[in-house]
Amino acid sequence: MAMVQLDHLRKVYENGYVGVADASFDVGHGELLVLVGPSGCGKSTLLRMIAGLESITSGTLSIGERVVNDLSPRDRDIAMVFQNYALYPHMTVAENLAFGLKLRGTAREEIERRVGEAATMLDLGRMLPLKPAQLSGGQRQRVALGRALVRKPAVFLLDEPLSNLDAKLRLSTRVEIAKLHRDLDATMIYVTHDQIEAMTLGHRIVVMRAGEIQQIDTPMRLYQQPINLFVAGFLGSPAMNFFRGTVVADDGLALDLGSAKLALGDAVGAVARVGSELVVGLRPEDLIPANGSTPAHSLKARLELAEPVGNEIFLNMRAGEHTVVARVPPQEIPDVGSELQLVFRPERMHLFDPQSERRLDLAL
Ligand code: ADP
Repeated sequence: MAMVQLDHLRKVYENGYVGVADASFDVGHGELLVLVGPSGCGKSTLLRMIAGLESITSGTLSIGERVVNDLSPRDRDIAMVFQNYALYPHMTVAENLAFGLKLRGTAREEIERRVGEAATMLDLGRMLPLKPAQLSGGQRQRVALGRALVRKPAVFLLDEPLSNLDAKLRLSTRVEIAKLHRDLDATMIYVTHDQIEAMTLGHRIVVMRAGEIQQIDTPMRLYQQPINLFVAGFLGSPAMNFFRGTVVADDGLALDLGSAKLALGDAVGAVARVGSELVVGLRPEDLIPANGSTPAHSLKARLELAEPVGNEIFLNMRAGEHTVVARVPPQEIPDVGSELQLVFRPERMHLFDPQSERRLDLAL
């Protein structure tokens, strides 16, 4: 059952700026949907429209099968968690947790029960008598989560909830949110600019760019079948390598990269003819150094810098004008300046039209 339905939602700000062009998707009951994209792409605007904090220019928004376009935030059965916690500094943790329920006139025993429940789930028991200033950033964000929790809303809306935390806390709080989501069977919409957060938390991810939705899919499908150059380059770290060039005949087909060549074999024949322009994308883990052989799918590149990070090594190379990054398991590192032969499996190539920037599908 769809818990939240967006039907052609559009936001034009008063100055004429299009914050969200045309958003249509459903969020299922119990789903954790992530909105991701670079800063300024409109993800907070969209979340705030769902929350009722930003007006809807056109389109229809339903929560739990009710059209809520004109309902105030408090009547939408949602709870929001912000990046900056937004706790009341003069209230204790217990009072902060109880405040929203009190405002709504919830009975005292019920408030106590729900605050106790949330404190247990989030391990806040010891902190109930403390004021926010006495807590660490991570603890404050747990209180903010708790405040949403006690409301038992139909939908949780989270706006960059981990951005104020340091790297280690971000990781542990991320795991907590994922567990909480599972334990509560809650419906969540989660905004982040961080692709790792999006990939690890999202059942499905909505990738946005400049107010436009680019692709909506599961993390793995987004990674394996990005619909255009933007999505391909946005998800994955290090990012996908892109090679832009003209297709030439060279013992099979190849992409002419100026002073280098990417051997394509004949697998691209269906979508690219000799003379046409093409962008080939290859992820760093799909480029494998294999000296000595001259297979059909390969590229020669010169090593500029090796970055060993323990469990793997990033090889930063150059092929003509193109920088190339390969991700390889720990091994003896070749000398800087040496030429490496990189091979790849043809089915790992991502092909894009350089004009439309859209994915071209290979019928392999
Ligand atoms: P994100 O959350 O993806 O970083 P936002 O949704 O906050 O992006 O903003 C999307 C775009 O809308 C930005 O370019 C921002 O400058 C613009 N914007 C936000 N609020 C307003 C406003 N009140 N009036 C005009 N433009 C706005």
